[in-house]
Amino acid sequence: MEKIKVGVLGATGSVGQRFIQLLENHPFFTVTHLAASEKSAGKTYGEVMKSRWKISSDIPAYAKDIVITLPKPTDTKGVQLVFSGLDSSIAGEVETEYAESGVIVISNSKNHRMDPHVPLMSAEVNSEHLEVLKSQKTSGKIITNSNCTIMGVTISLKPLHDKYGIESVMLFSMQAISGAGYPGVPTMDILGNVVPYISGEEDKAEIEPQKCLGTVENGQIKSASFAISAHCNRVPVFDGHTVCVSVKFKKKPSKEDILKTWKEFSGEPQKLDLPLAPKQPIVYREEADRPQPRLDLDTGRGMATVVGRLREDSILDWKWVVLSHNTIRGAAGAALLNAELLYKKGLISS
Ligand code: NAP
Repeated sequence: MEKIKVGVLGATGSVGQRFIQLLENHPFFTVTHLAASEKSAGKTYGEVMKSRWKISSDIPAYAKDIVITLPKPTDTKGVQLVFSGLDSSIAGEVETEYAESGVIVISNSKNHRMDPHVPLMSAEVNSEHLEVLKSQKTSGKIITNSNCTIMGVTISLKPLHDKYGIESVMLFSMQAISGAGYPGVPTMDILGNVVPYISGEEDKAEIEPQKCLGTVENGQIKSASFAISAHCNRVPVFDGHTVCVSVKFKKKPSKEDILKTWKEFSGEPQKLDLPLAPKQPIVYREEADRPQPRLDLDTGRGMATVVGRLREDSILDWKWVVLSHNTIRGAAGAALLNAELLYKKGLISS
């Protein structure tokens, strides 16, 4: 069967590079369109990325000869879907232009995330939110991923919220430097240091999980009603966001209930056996000192959420630690899983 032609906007950035890596030999998609800023446009991907590729495998051969363009839907030639890893300063406008020209956009940027007609989707968590695509007025559609910090947190909350109801959440993040893009945080600021501030991050962490766990009402997404308080910190780790979470439930579960609920959790990606779906979306580590980015980041090829240290909280009910790969599960991997789900559901016409 002919593969669907796709593009990557922001292909030269941290998230863009992950897309290029994950799309190599993909069974459903073939990359024919790469876009970035004026700095990169007009040159081949191989030429631009010679000194900028930051992933520990070679630049895939398929991408090297593609000439990068500016992100304009007029240059797409049969592309039906684009993945966006564009800087948020331009992502909103550009993504709307692609959707208006009939292209499906799956975005990692914040711009459209809180629009009630746009799914903030994590394929195992809320694929039913795809229903609101019908209310988008453009011929192409926009789907977004959540912020990378709360991606794993929301996955750990999802099955518990369904069964026991969440009343409130406190979270403290320790976020990797690759989360700031490239070149990102200056070495002098982060080596041997912790920076207790990431611009805009706490605002997103305090509203996005509720939208992910919300319900569809009258063609719009209505956020769940619990409150979140977030502290976000940058730490000298290359990849992988670790988050300490404390939760108060409407009906307090036992430790065994929580562990069983996580173990049994799976969603549509597992049911449909999607190429990038982790076999087990939530992996619990019993060891007292896990999860750790260096040891656990590649679990489920970077697509699993690794949880550990479940114990009682002396103020709220329960607390635990969540680790997820920020550029894979928190960005490019989650977006590709969303696209695989759309494909399998027949929502991308060829
Ligand atoms: P990045 O490394 O700074 O990459 C940004 C990309 O946008 C580059 O390809 C850049 O192209 C392109 N770009 C910037 N200005 C442009 C313009 N005026 N016109 C066209 N292209 C332009 O950032 P990133 O970390 O990959 O993040 C990309 C997006 O994903 C952001 O919105 C970010 O918030 C979000 N996100 C990031 C992560 C993460 O872990 N890094 C996780 C989740 C979500 P040039 O190279 O040509 O300048």
